[in-house]
Amino acid sequence: MALRRALVCPLDEGKYLAPLSTLGVGGRCECFAEPWVLADVATLFRIRALEGFPIYILGGGTNVVFADGEIEGTVLSTRRLNACRWNVGETHGELDAEAGYSLPLASAVAGREGLGGAEFAQGIPGTLGGAVAGNAGAGGKSAGELLHEVTTVEENGEIRRWRRGEFSYSYRFFSLSSSPRFIAACKLSFERKPLEDIWRDEAAFRQVRMGQPRGVRSAGCTFKNPPGDSAGRLLDACGCKGLSVGSAVVSGAHANFLVNKGGATGSDVFRLMGICRDIVFEKTGICLEPEIKFMGFPK
Ligand SMILES: Cc1cc2nc3c(=O)[nH]c(=O)nc-3n(C[C@H](O)[C@H](O)[C@H](O)COP(=O)(O)OP(=O)(O)OC[C@H]3O[C@@H](n4cnc5c(N)ncnc54)[C@H](O)[C@@H]3O)c2cc1C
Repeated sequence: MALRRALVCPLDEGKYLAPLSTLGVGGRCECFAEPWVLADVATLFRIRALEGFPIYILGGGTNVVFADGEIEGTVLSTRRLNACRWNVGETHGELDAEAGYSLPLASAVAGREGLGGAEFAQGIPGTLGGAVAGNAGAGGKSAGELLHEVTTVEENGEIRRWRRGEFSYSYRFFSLSSSPRFIAACKLSFERKPLEDIWRDEAAFRQVRMGQPRGVRSAGCTFKNPPGDSAGRLLDACGCKGLSVGSAVVSGAHANFLVNKGGATGSDVFRLMGICRDIVFEKTGICLEPEIKFMGFPK
């Protein structure tokens, strides 16, 4: 295959995807690439532009549900693109990191160095690339606020640099994610902050997590919060807690968490989300929008 010859990294066939996501559902993919050089990503995108096969970008797999069966196309993992450089100064600090660098690690290192701004990321698993792509956040703070510069691989394989002002973000939205492109690296800026204040804020964010299910297979919040309300509150008020399809269950601890009790499939998750969305819509007129990303499902 031309693609295999063009890449430095191996191209696996039929890779089982469920273990690559925190939810733990889904089948296999036609091809799987885990490059360690950006040139491979550019090559993949260039060949895709000619041949038209789908590419699914996978970070930490903490916010995705894979389809069952075989997913056509290539799953492109960022796990090995994880180099980073910290630059800690008197008044502020900077992190220059590739997409696969861990978000919780970035938060922990910043906190340890007395750099404020990433305390919200305590307890948000996954990679920097995934956090930027979906503008992950908590308590009104989000990844976009720290972003200084983003490097992308464009749909045609070109590498492009975007400075602050050339992209925008809002609740679980990042403007550069509106078109298919690969977030290759980003620069984050942090302000110096007293350690006691960082510890206090980190503890406050950790406290909020206590109400969420722990030690279970989930993909975080299932639905986005609608304007002025909370998806969890609506799902709870509409009696969704405990609903299930197969082994996919709406958590009793937090109605906006869908849990794989063991052996759930992608279609169990998909159907359960549809049931919850319909119940909330019938009872409140509010149509919840998924926060979880579907990979390999029919459009
Ligand atoms: C227990 C738990 C708690 C969570 N709490 C929160 C929370 O408080 N707040 C919150 O916002 N989220 C939360 N999440 C969801 C998830 O952790 C975040 O959305 C996270 O930022 C996703 O990063 P990831 O690397 O795992 O991305 P993935 O799940 O691998 O991918 C998510 C999406 O981003 C895209 N993507 C990933 N990397 C790139 C890239 N380099 N370029 C382009 N697109 C890319 C993927 O294609 C996919 O569409 C939680 C999840 C869990 C399991």
